[in-house]
Amino acid sequence: MTFRVSTGVAAIAALLMLSSMSVAAEAPAAADQQYVWDLTDLYQTPEAWTAEHAKIKGAADKLKQYKGTLGKSADSMFKALDAISHVNKETQRLYVYAGLKADEDLTNSPAQERRQLGQALFTEFSENTAWLAPEILSIGEKKVNAFLKANKQLSARFDFFLHDTLRAEPHTLGAEAEGVIAAGGNVAQQPDTVRGQLAHSDLPSPTVTLSDGTTVKLTDQAYTKYRQVENRADRKKVFDAFWGAYQNYKNTFGANLTTQVMLAEFNAKVRKFPNALSAATFSDNMPEGVYRTLVKEANEGLPVLHRYLKLRKQMLGIKDDLGYEDLYPTMFKQDQKLKFSVADSERIAIDALQPYGEEYLSLLKKGFAGHWMHAYPGEHKASGAYMNGSAYDVHPYLLLNHNDDYEALTTLAHEWGHAVHTLLTHDAQPFEKSNYSTFTAETASIGNEMLLNDYMVEHAKTKNEKLYYLGQGLEAIRTTFFRQVMFAEFQLAIHEEMEAGRPLSGDRMTSIYCDLVRKYYGEAQGITKINPTYCAEWEYIPHFFYGFYVWQYATSMAGAAQLTDDILKNGAPARDRFIALLKAGGSDYPYNLYKKAGIDMATPEPYRKLVARMTHILDEIDELQKQN
Ligand SMILES: [Zn+2]
Repeated sequence: MTFRVSTGVAAIAALLMLSSMSVAAEAPAAADQQYVWDLTDLYQTPEAWTAEHAKIKGAADKLKQYKGTLGKSADSMFKALDAISHVNKETQRLYVYAGLKADEDLTNSPAQERRQLGQALFTEFSENTAWLAPEILSIGEKKVNAFLKANKQLSARFDFFLHDTLRAEPHTLGAEAEGVIAAGGNVAQQPDTVRGQLAHSDLPSPTVTLSDGTTVKLTDQAYTKYRQVENRADRKKVFDAFWGAYQNYKNTFGANLTTQVMLAEFNAKVRKFPNALSAATFSDNMPEGVYRTLVKEANEGLPVLHRYLKLRKQMLGIKDDLGYEDLYPTMFKQDQKLKFSVADSERIAIDALQPYGEEYLSLLKKGFAGHWMHAYPGEHKASGAYMNGSAYDVHPYLLLNHNDDYEALTTLAHEWGHAVHTLLTHDAQPFEKSNYSTFTAETASIGNEMLLNDYMVEHAKTKNEKLYYLGQGLEAIRTTFFRQVMFAEFQLAIHEEMEAGRPLSGDRMTSIYCDLVRKYYGEAQGITKINPTYCAEWEYIPHFFYGFYVWQYATSMAGAAQLTDDILKNGAPARDRFIALLKAGGSDYPYNLYKKAGIDMATPEPYRKLVARMTHILDEIDELQKQN
């Protein structure tokens, strides 16, 4: 979390958790006490939380008294920012406890109420400090720089925040206009809510009967499960019914997503950005060129994705055209399910991450030894997986739903990548510079996934097991890179339609999406044949309502590919650059931090490294297949 006091509550809540994109574990197992987190490191009891909450609420109320004092002197500015920062830090600690306690058991009412109190405290904090950025802007760069020179504490902790605030000057409006925009904040949240209501309440989930006689109601969760079934006719049935249902609502989904695009365009226009993309890349100060390089390079890499699809077709024994419904079943079936307990996963993670060296590994081991993780599924527990590192003075906490499969092992390595990143950052940076960007965060975690996958391939006990891990490595690149870039390209395309003054609709969006699916999956090259009904998929993706979001995963994966490649080839110096990137936290913008680590995200190199990784995996599979 940076010292961005103007951030909205929803955004703060989202940023607090670096959640994995993986699907929730299915079969709940009994919680193992060894792998339940100990929240007494945050507060001894819920009563202690309540007492601290009252204290910080009182302190938040008093922050208004600093209004108008920042420009008096360097010391006066430091005093105000220090007080504000303290309330921010403690509010986050309160919110971490409230959130974790609520996620342990979603039916626990006092815990859910505590979470609401935590959110309300964030809102109160934001309201009581809403004057801060305008005041800094009115003081101006010259005076701020003079203050930074005059007060060492001020510059050590607040220089990045102050410069970042001043950077927003050309895009900050007068007090009256800012007030009007803030007052419309709730309206801007509505398209996301409407999409959720439509997809999860109003849209009737279709029912299908599979070849074995099972009847399945195709909710989103059931779709995720049944799209993987081995029987191809069943998969087709699932796809036809599921996407057919979405197609019936394309007009409403289309009008709603159009509203979201309009809001982004409106925001960009009133804040004097040339377009919505440039507004979206502003907060991370990411050059817009990175987005365009990403899309261009993913397109250049499509022949390698197509090579993978040809292999998939062959492995699944498909004689006619490969379809969109053939992407999810595993290519290399195992006779026995590969199983990893949490203890196994920890042991494997330590071995697999050896290339990161002692400093990293000692933090990982320290984390495993502490009770920081709520690892196994449980009744009423929150689904999914995340690392929450917002309690700056304490340590990270992790929620998993470990169900002992390879995906669970991968998720554990991923989330602990976030945790060690947090530890390194917190050791090296003051609170005010501890909030790292999603771009560097996901590089740290996806890098772990890559090293893990390489390790599993290398240590596989049988050829078939090796093939399985190689196949998983391919799927990771398809889903975290190519699929996300396809989404990113779609998002950019619908924005550019509006910027060019062309009308948007559900039909138009479906047509744009269909063209992209056909291009990515190689229909013109005869690799696949895409059923147009399945082009309703865009209606199903909630991320289009989070701004330009998905490209961060794809970009981070490319960064991770170049970094891990560099570490494996060049050893210590490359590893040190990587550790320095993690330690830098939020002390600089991600583009600059990558550059210091030897990576220019605006050049083709990182993306090509990732595509080369995919080629390498495909070569390995070919080599193994020949050994028959
Ligand atoms: Zn992550």
